[in-house]
Amino acid sequence: MHLFTPGPTPVPEAIRVAMSAPTLHHRTPEFEAIFKEARERLLKLFGMKEAIMIASSGTGAMEASVINICKKKILTVNSGKFGERFGKIAKAYGKELVELKYEWNMPVSVEDIKEALCNNSDIDTIAIQVCESAGGLRHPVEEIAKVVKEFNKDIAIIADGITAVGVEPIDTRYIDILISGSQKALMLPPGLAMLGLSEYAIERIGSGSGYYLNLASEIAKQQKNTTAYTAATTLIIGLNKIFDLIENSGGLDTLYSITEARSKALIKALESIDLKIYPNSPALAMATVIDKDSENIRKLLKSKYRVNIAGGQDHLKGKIFRVNNMGLIKTSDMLWVVDSIESALSELGRLEYSGVAAKTFSEVFKLESK
Ligand SMILES: *Cc1c(COP(=O)(O)O)cnc(C)c1O
Repeated sequence: MHLFTPGPTPVPEAIRVAMSAPTLHHRTPEFEAIFKEARERLLKLFGMKEAIMIASSGTGAMEASVINICKKKILTVNSGKFGERFGKIAKAYGKELVELKYEWNMPVSVEDIKEALCNNSDIDTIAIQVCESAGGLRHPVEEIAKVVKEFNKDIAIIADGITAVGVEPIDTRYIDILISGSQKALMLPPGLAMLGLSEYAIERIGSGSGYYLNLASEIAKQQKNTTAYTAATTLIIGLNKIFDLIENSGGLDTLYSITEARSKALIKALESIDLKIYPNSPALAMATVIDKDSENIRKLLKSKYRVNIAGGQDHLKGKIFRVNNMGLIKTSDMLWVVDSIESALSELGRLEYSGVAAKTFSEVFKLESK
């Protein structure tokens, strides 16, 4: 089966093999050396002052960010399931919440953020997705972060980059916490969450909050190349291998430029078979299509072409489908995916198969890769 869901993404074979080595004890010099290497490479990936790894899915890092950074009142952006989740976390911990809510194809407007801040002078934290995976949209996070810091430098910015870190370069100059998770762009199994922290974030976290998710305890330990609790040793070994693999494929900048070129090609290919891209500001991590036949297309892809793509959730269930574009993807695999979608449309009587989707993908990808 070709796994083309925007998380989890397929784990490359070399990584699976590396993770099959016997388990190491986490309190040993051997593992500390591995941890140090992963930590240094993460610091580079984030381009921030500090990098922390915790054994949890991505939501654990979202929760850790909210409880350690937000003092009293948080502003969240709900353009989908993951933005909504920041609000739910805030409520679970009794934080005051201001939520900007949009349809799932709409990125937040900088004006709305400014207005919310003017109306609520006690907002001390903003939490937002870089890419909101529910509808595959890109929020203008860097611009918002800059505007907010100019407005009040003591407002902390949490950016959920789980489907953006490793997809595109993110300007972290005005971001305080940048979150990443193992099973999306980093092509690892689920279970490792990573956070990049700014100098201001470290200062503001102080002695931290919570117990397992107390970031102050983790900062203190991880600066010494160990963790407060048992580290996700196998996943951290896998993370180093992922960095090796990215380096051997030309490095991060190459990964970013190929991902961008492939995103353009994928979107053009889908449009060439009259499909409609759902978000107003598509993220690079995935292509999201709004289509009444979404479920039939997905079923055909899975049963006949062995391609697994994602559908929609909540009110978009059955109305959209999402094709992953994160990670090291073989061009031949993506060609197969777009060709299969065209074949499925043909079988549904929507068009006559001509191979135009694969042809368009190939042409645009070559042009954009230069
Ligand atoms: C996948 C994802 C998460 C985290 O989900 P987990 O299931 O907890 O790993 C958070 N934010 C975004 C944008 C995501 O795509």
